[in-house]
Formats: sequence, C-alpha cells, structure tokens
Amino acid sequence: MKNAKWQVDLQQLRQLRLFNNVAVSSISQLLKEFRACDLESGEVLLSPFNRNQYLYLLLKGQLKVYLGSMDSLAVSILNVGDCAGEISFIDNEHPCAYVVATEPSSVLRLHRESLFQLFQQSPELMQNMLALLCERVRQGNSTIISSEHTANIDVLTGAYNRRWLEHMFERESTRSAFNGKPLCMLMLDVDHFKVYNDQHGHLAGDYALTLVAHTLRNQLRPKDSLTRFGGEEFVILLPEIAEEEARGIGERLRLALRKVSSFHSPIGVLPGVTVSIGLAQMRPKDSLQGLIARADSALYRAKQQGRDCLCG
Ligand code: GH3
Ligand code: MG
Ligand code: MG
Repeated sequence: MKNAKWQVDLQQLRQLRLFNNVAVSSISQLLKEFRACDLESGEVLLSPFNRNQYLYLLLKGQLKVYLGSMDSLAVSILNVGDCAGEISFIDNEHPCAYVVATEPSSVLRLHRESLFQLFQQSPELMQNMLALLCERVRQGNSTIISSEHTANIDVLTGAYNRRWLEHMFERESTRSAFNGKPLCMLMLDVDHFKVYNDQHGHLAGDYALTLVAHTLRNQLRPKDSLTRFGGEEFVILLPEIAEEEARGIGERLRLALRKVSSFHSPIGVLPGVTVSIGLAQMRPKDSLQGLIARADSALYRAKQQGRDCLCG
C-alpha cells in the first residue's frame, strides 16, 4: 500500500456513508487525521493474520471480502463510499475477514488513536459507524442462516440430507415418545437406475432424481421430511402416521411417480422412473439405525418381489 496524494474534496467526502449528515466544519476538522493510500489490484488490505488499527474509506475502485480463506467465495463487495476494517478499528483485535482490492483502488485511512476525537467531534459520525456495524451484524446473521440451510440440503435435488435426517429423527422420536403418536419411515430406491444412466447418460439420471424429489415433495405435508439418503435412495419420516396410513401414502407416492411416463428436461424429453419402497414403523427405543435397518430390509423385499411396489 502506497501513500497517495489526495486533493481534499469535501463534496466527495460528504457522499461517503460515514459522513452522512456530518457538518462540513466537523469533516474539515477530522480531515487532518486521514491519510490517502493507493492499492494495487489483488493487494490484500486486511487479513486475519495482521493486526489492523485503521478504518478505511473506499474513495476509488472496489474491494472484496472473504471469510475463512481467499479461495472461498467472496461474502461481499465493497464499493466507493463503503468502509472496511471498522470492527478491528474499534476492538483492536485481528480482522475477521480478508479484504482484497479487485482493481487499482484508493482509500482514506484513519488510525484508531483518532477514535476518541471522532466521538468528540461528531456524534453523527459515530451514529453512522454504529449503523454500519449493525448492518455487518445483520449480514453475519443471514450468512449463518443461509450456510446452516445449505449444510442441510442436497444440492442436486433440494431434498434434505442425512445430517438433517439425524436432527429430525431426534426431534420426532422424542416427540413421539412423549405424545404416544406413531412415527413411520419410508425408504425409496429408484428401480434399475444404473441401466437408466447407461441408456440416457448421467446428466439425464440427475434430472430424473430431481423429478423424483420434486414429485415426492409435492405429495407430502410440510412436516414430512424428505431426505436424499444416498445416490438414488430417499428416506421420508412421517410423524404422527401409523403403518396402515403410511402404506397408503407410500402407495400414492409410488403411483405418482409411475404415472410420469416422460418429462421435459433441459436436455430434452426423458422417460420417467419407478421406485420400490420399504416401510417401517418406529418401535419404542428404536434408534435411527434400527429403524433404517428395518425400512431397508422391507425395501430389499420390494426389490425381490419385482420392484415398483411397497413392502413392510
Ligand atoms: P435396483 O433396481 O436394484 O435399485 O438397481 P439400480 O440399478 O437402481 O441399483 P444400483 O445400486 O446397481 O445402481 C444405482 C445407480 O445409481 C448407480 C449410480 O451410478 C446411480 N447414481 C447414484 N447417485 C447418482 C446421481 O447423483 N446421479 C446419477 N445420474 N446417478 C446416480
Ligand atoms: Mg440403491
Ligand atoms: Mg436403485
């Protein structure tokens, strides 16, 4: 980072978020504390490995923010007028993110020694800083929520994954033990899927799996968790449903898929698929593994009986 010559431009400064509603006289006072610096494209402005004592205001160019590693996807982009480094500027800890210039950029920087003066000079500026910090906290929270969501979802089909199944089983089995209501599991496996892939290609197979998940989801209640258990296997937990009713639901799902003899996909019209289904009702003290094992052996029997049917 090189020191740069910077022609003070009050009009330009007043457009920066940090100076929103700050009196020109206060800005002029504070300007003594700021230094202008230039960054080359790719230059790392902030890193969790280097202590930061500055607040940066972006005057020109663009910065990207990465959490964890610079190889990951950028979590946000900072444009002219945005701030960087405000958290470490305030708490004097290491930055929590990498901030990198994506093009030749210019920043104004302010050392944390001037923090006290900021408080005194301009409550408006501190208010802007607080608003900025609130925004960062909200951004952080929504990142947590969306990564939590992503961690539970299978990317291809949009169904939940095994991690979620474990979580839901804990919840639903406890509830079932508590309220005495039944809990059933359906295990579905696409029939002759290897042949389907061989005949139509792996991509076609992927679309067929998406179709299966979509069709199943449309037939279920919001509280029934549809999970992709493995390659072409799905598991459905049916809370408050006993064996007889679950059999009816399973049959309905099976027929809904059989009815789709062909479907449109981005690579053209493809044939539908059928599924075999194993059903098991939870017994007292059943573990997830125990319930899965019984649903799996029922599924095995369905395969033995010629596929496209339900056992259990
Ligand atoms: P069965 O009727 O006995 O279940 O026969 P099957 O061919 O479906 O069973 P098998 O276990 O022999 O083959 C499963 C196939 O599923 C093989 C594998 O390539 C395919 N598969 C697993 N995951 C995916 C996926 O994500 N996409 C695609 N296209 N195929 C997958
Ligand atoms: Mg299988
Ligand atoms: Mg199969």
